[in-house]
Amino acid sequence: MRKQKIIIAIDGYASTGKSTQAKKIAQKLDYVYIDSGAMYRAVTLYAMRENILEESKTNILIKSLEDINIEFKRSNNAQKIYLNGEEVENDIRKSIINSNVSRLAMIPEIRNFLFKRQRNYGKNKGLVMDGRDIGTVVFPNAECKFFFNAIQSVRAKRRYLEQYKKGNNEKYSQVLENIIERDRIDTNRSLNPLRKSSDAVEIDVSDLTENQVFKTLWEYISKKIN
Ligand code: C5P
Repeated sequence: MRKQKIIIAIDGYASTGKSTQAKKIAQKLDYVYIDSGAMYRAVTLYAMRENILEESKTNILIKSLEDINIEFKRSNNAQKIYLNGEEVENDIRKSIINSNVSRLAMIPEIRNFLFKRQRNYGKNKGLVMDGRDIGTVVFPNAECKFFFNAIQSVRAKRRYLEQYKKGNNEKYSQVLENIIERDRIDTNRSLNPLRKSSDAVEIDVSDLTENQVFKTLWEYISKKIN
């Protein structure tokens, strides 16, 4: 019997391993995977490169949104994000982007611009998307919703090690500070703040291994697709 294609939304706090799990699930199901945070990061990178990152230049950025083309392409079995035709997977993870992305993600015009593109990916179902408002706003009817949480020090350590392996030597204290600040902005913004959807399964990943988290997700997902 053919399995039913669904939409899987994984929301939660920064550095809880949402993307790692979303990628694994998408691979197992042969679904499309979309990292919605990467889209906000790409807009932030565009603003930085165009010298319109400051708050006083927000109107110029809003007017330029239609000049921004964001695509995801697969190469060497990994998915990469492209900004106006250029692969920017590493550039969007830099600390300057970390420090500015949540401020730009509060701007309604930017959210609306990305919302439309995110919705489009779900037209044919068979999608795993991670972010902050996927289960609450982008796909409120998603068949499977998860919400990841973990204590801040665990998340900061995770992000610090990830950056260290990539050769970025940001201090642990800076990483922790950035996570605390992004949590604050993401949960307090007036438009589509980070919230657990009432029908999402909440998972505290603080003491769980990657495999344990995957097993938990799979238990729920397998029931929905059969
Ligand atoms: O997921 P990631 O940490 O890369 O997301 C970067 C930032 O983009 C978040 O801190 C948040 O401010 C914003 N974001 C958002 N809504 C989403 C995904 C990300 O506001 N759906």
